[in-house]
Amino acid sequence: MTTWLDLPADSPYGIHNLPYGVFSAPDRPGRRRIGVRIGDFVLDAGAAARALGRPSVLLDADTLNPLMAAGRSTWTEVRAALTGWLSDEAHRPEISRCLVDLADAELHLPFEVADYVDFYASEHHATNLGRIFRPGSEPLTPNWKHLPIGYHGRAGTVVVSDTPIVRPHGQRKAPADALPSFGPTRRLDIEAEVGFVVGTPTALGTRVALADFREHVFGVCLLNDWSARDIQAWEYVPLGPFLGKSFATSVSPWVVPLDALEAARVTPPARDVEPLPYLDDRDGEPWGLDLAIEVSLNGQVISRPPFASMYWTAAQQLAHMTVNGASLRTGDLYASGTVSGPEPETRGALIELTWNGEQPVKLQDGATRTFLEDGDEVTLTATAPGPDGTRIGFGEVTGRIVP
Ligand code: CA
Repeated sequence: MTTWLDLPADSPYGIHNLPYGVFSAPDRPGRRRIGVRIGDFVLDAGAAARALGRPSVLLDADTLNPLMAAGRSTWTEVRAALTGWLSDEAHRPEISRCLVDLADAELHLPFEVADYVDFYASEHHATNLGRIFRPGSEPLTPNWKHLPIGYHGRAGTVVVSDTPIVRPHGQRKAPADALPSFGPTRRLDIEAEVGFVVGTPTALGTRVALADFREHVFGVCLLNDWSARDIQAWEYVPLGPFLGKSFATSVSPWVVPLDALEAARVTPPARDVEPLPYLDDRDGEPWGLDLAIEVSLNGQVISRPPFASMYWTAAQQLAHMTVNGASLRTGDLYASGTVSGPEPETRGALIELTWNGEQPVKLQDGATRTFLEDGDEVTLTATAPGPDGTRIGFGEVTGRIVP
């Protein structure tokens, strides 16, 4: 499959990817439209459908939610149509008029976030944090290999890439302090994660089986779970993360369809504890994904976390999240948890990269960092294998810290 657009053969935004987003552009100022990225262009999907005499209420929308709610068979049809429009030379005259330069497009939060859940699925990350926070005891909690651990986050503070991140205030208490103090966090951190976007909802009281993952999950984005480590450390016992996390979560503006990731599927690491049947994917089609993530701080790559190393998959997380009968809503977002590989240079958070601030990261300009300073800019990018040796790009999620 090739496109009539003149794209480099190795473009991560070729015809095999076609991620969805929401954009506005100067030709219709302020008007949010569904866009599909191809190369360094955004296809105005609603305008393209109209130009070909096939107007679509799902594509003529200002968020992806109506399309996401329509379900798997519609997602497949729409993707096939888009692929045809961008590959069939006969459509070139109409479709080329619906392309906007990416540089002229303003990218918005692509979907209305319903509920937001964050997991904790990297064995390496959980082990590192256990060693840092609970030295001398078993790093993994006894439940860790029996269930995907998670918490409910704050959906209303999920923001799109390039939204400034205001340094949060809160209660901070170091172990040596007698009493907590109030002020701006001194230990602002990142967590490099992958987000999964739910399309098809479920009824209260029903479960999603492992095998039904692709019926419910529309696509995948990148996610930075900003974390104030001093606020978190003081508040998280006994009920888990709260204000140390809820001030902002950034997502990439492009949602990569699950259908674009077939070639990226891999078997997850061997499980050394037998999972209960509802989490047992060993005889089915496991959903490990081979995303290569890069974390940059002020333009310099500081880590390369491998998503293929995650212990729990997104399919297991969805099965677990609904096993009690909790319903899904269109727009639910759940994140993988910090992605950290086995090697030090593959850790997905500063608290691990600097080992709780004891080993600062050195930057090229001679500066060092333990945690983030005002003005720092963090960017996550990722690619995955596509069909026929192609690459699938995920765009980027960037945030700059402001006081
Ligand atoms: Ca997290």
